[in-house]
Amino acid sequence: MKEKKKLSLAAQIFIALVLAVIVGLLMTSHGEFAESYIKPFGTIFLNLIKFIVVPVVLFSIMSGIISMQDIRKVGSIGIKTIVYYLCTTACAITIGLAGANLFKGFFPVLSTTDLEYEAAEPTPFMDTIVNIFPSNFITPMSDANMLQVIVMALLIGFAIILVGDRAKEVVTGVEKLNLVFMKCMDMIIKLSPVGVFCLLCPVVAVNGPAVLGSLAMVLLAAYICYIVHAAVVYSLTVRTLGGLSPVKFFKEMLPAIMFAFSSASSVGTLPINMECVERLGASREVTSFVLPLGATINMDGTAIYQGVCSIFIASCFGIDLDFGQMVTIVLTATLASIGTAGVPGAGMIMLAMVLQSVGLPVEGIALVAGVDRIFDMGRTTVNIIGDASCSIIVSSIEEKKSKAA
Ligand code: ASP
Repeated sequence: MKEKKKLSLAAQIFIALVLAVIVGLLMTSHGEFAESYIKPFGTIFLNLIKFIVVPVVLFSIMSGIISMQDIRKVGSIGIKTIVYYLCTTACAITIGLAGANLFKGFFPVLSTTDLEYEAAEPTPFMDTIVNIFPSNFITPMSDANMLQVIVMALLIGFAIILVGDRAKEVVTGVEKLNLVFMKCMDMIIKLSPVGVFCLLCPVVAVNGPAVLGSLAMVLLAAYICYIVHAAVVYSLTVRTLGGLSPVKFFKEMLPAIMFAFSSASSVGTLPINMECVERLGASREVTSFVLPLGATINMDGTAIYQGVCSIFIASCFGIDLDFGQMVTIVLTATLASIGTAGVPGAGMIMLAMVLQSVGLPVEGIALVAGVDRIFDMGRTTVNIIGDASCSIIVSSIEEKKSKAA
């Protein structure tokens, strides 16, 4: 019997993406139908992803740490990761500000009277730090508070290393549970073409081409900055620090890129991102630590978006930002992107913090809120590529180090 050739997951997702755009455009006059009957299947798929993400992060970080067998090694990987994340985010926001300033002349000047936007109460900086540490064993998992889950995984992982041989059954247990949850995740990921279709089609049907109209130039500016950042910064770092061809990198990343674009969730893309990065040769012990951390704190696309939107909102209010204010935006947007959760729409909420830092009116967010999802699809894509590039680089540095030793 002739064996049927199966389409790769990337090809399946791509077909789903194209179909979603075509069907969505055909349904622009039936946006409500798409929202009520197609979106729920996308939501089911996202729910399954959210369900699996906590155990995957918990057990993959623990088994990553256990396999390193050395707390100092975890520390050295952690420091490299955080330095890379901070530097690339600062580059991203600079590109966002520079790009938006270049495009400023083409931005529409929308009326700012009658604007209303209720900004959420910002969390004081010290509270953000305190909130990283869980006060309960269960709530971080039930609330899917990823930073707290990461802290739990680190603590328990370190304890397992320190207890040593006496905990060897626990080591085996963690490794086996990790395998089981990974398999579970694999099963869910197989549904991603359907998920992608059901998530994207209603977005296209509801937003349609018309709504983009006045904001088209702002969206274009953001997307150009997203592309420049990915093509220049990540290509450079992956090539020079990771020794990997950028073409290969982006090619292998396609399934994760398409998934992030349609789901607008870094945390949701985590499982598929792990698969892509491991296929590119990154070691599991590095990936299992660097990617979950990145999906939680590293948001380069969000930083770009915050830069572009700040300039756009300022120009609508007839305000010119000076150099000092731009520097403040770089600093606050870097912090804001760390505090942004890897879920749809989170970056827009944090935009309030950036605007406030330079005295721009928070109501300005109402100007971009209508098309936030379209900004979000691009910024999430950049966010996860940044996480992946870090895994490749840290993994390659660690590999070189262990060969030299
Ligand atoms: N949706 C983005 C993400 O998951 C976060 C944001 O809204 O900027 O990475």
